[in-house]
Amino acid sequence: MFFHFTVSGQKLTAEEKRILTIIDKNHEEAVQFLEETVNINSGTYNIAGIKKVGALYQEVLDDMGFATTWCDMPAAMKRAGHLIGERKGTQGKKLLLNGHMDTVFEPDSPFQTWQVQNNVAIGPGVTDMKGGLMVMLYALKALHEANLLDDRQIIVILHGDEENAGDPITISRKDLIEAAKRSDIALCYEPATGFNDATIARRGSSSWALKVTGKQAHSSSIFTERTGAGAIYETGRILNRFYEALQEPYLTFSPGLMLGGTTVHVDSSGTLGNASGKANVVAKEAYVKGDLRFLYEEQKEKAREKMKAIVAESYPLTQADITFEEGYPSMPPTDGNMAVLNVLSQVSLDLGQGAVKPYDPGNRGAGDISFVAQYLDCLDGLGAMGGNSHAPEEYMDLTTLKDFVKRSALLIYRLTR
Ligand SMILES: [Zn+2]
Repeated sequence: MFFHFTVSGQKLTAEEKRILTIIDKNHEEAVQFLEETVNINSGTYNIAGIKKVGALYQEVLDDMGFATTWCDMPAAMKRAGHLIGERKGTQGKKLLLNGHMDTVFEPDSPFQTWQVQNNVAIGPGVTDMKGGLMVMLYALKALHEANLLDDRQIIVILHGDEENAGDPITISRKDLIEAAKRSDIALCYEPATGFNDATIARRGSSSWALKVTGKQAHSSSIFTERTGAGAIYETGRILNRFYEALQEPYLTFSPGLMLGGTTVHVDSSGTLGNASGKANVVAKEAYVKGDLRFLYEEQKEKAREKMKAIVAESYPLTQADITFEEGYPSMPPTDGNMAVLNVLSQVSLDLGQGAVKPYDPGNRGAGDISFVAQYLDCLDGLGAMGGNSHAPEEYMDLTTLKDFVKRSALLIYRLTR
């Protein structure tokens, strides 16, 4: 299914070759460990399941000399919390390693177990991202067995709620942000987007809600001075102007729900509602809910200003109001992120695996690493390679798995020298 060539790396030191030998020796155990974790359901709302799989990760970290703690969330948040492991040290770069233990598959999903067919593993969360956690942990394990983790500061944070982050973010991501402030580089093990790419930028997300009012009147009087254009025409004008005026690279603004008529009701989630109206009555109300994705905070702010200005230019006798809600911040592409990618790319070349290039952020959604991107250099997409994430055919390529572990182990090794 996937093809690549591995030649023996002449540019590797004796110590690095020793790391690779340990990874080869541990590989079968690593795949068994992955199978065991995939077979434990850890849907975001299955708190007991997340704690059960978390106990396995905690044991591996404990064995490697990490000081571990399970951080519970307040009961009202209905989330399992997260696992933190830390090794203290003074040598090399201080690293923050991040990933998530939860999957989108709850216990009532028919998709629950690991199977292997022709070097492809199929299972819930196998790439997103229990495969990535395995890559992270077995890279660390090889370094530990080679006694190369001593005097290195490495903090591992595994979230139990990435697929639907616990609210408020100020609590659910507090430990991640605190750890980032004490670290130099964050490495995140979300799925690899290809054998030769990694993520140095991710777009942020936010949402908006548009409320429009017009004058209710007989439909025959529409466009007259006493009636104006009505709420639905005004909504059409606004959305069309957004479409015409906001197009630029990495910016998307998608209306996802629209209601309009004589009366409009929207529930408190803003995602469900109903409307009523008649063909012979000019529409009095309209509502639109949409999202806004961006690569830079500045791009988000500028887009919001343009949207507000468009909303303010009303058709006759209508009025509109737009409000914005924050989601994930963006992780812009920085020189620092690129420098970390360059270290990874050199490792990959030295392993005979080819150069690693930055992945197009336009093709990737938001992620946990975005919460810390403003504090340190970041690289994401270091996990396993597969496909159909969030779908019952989720799979992972077993033939490249060991290559990713080797790449990651040497990346961590070189960053911490
Ligand atoms: Zn994920």
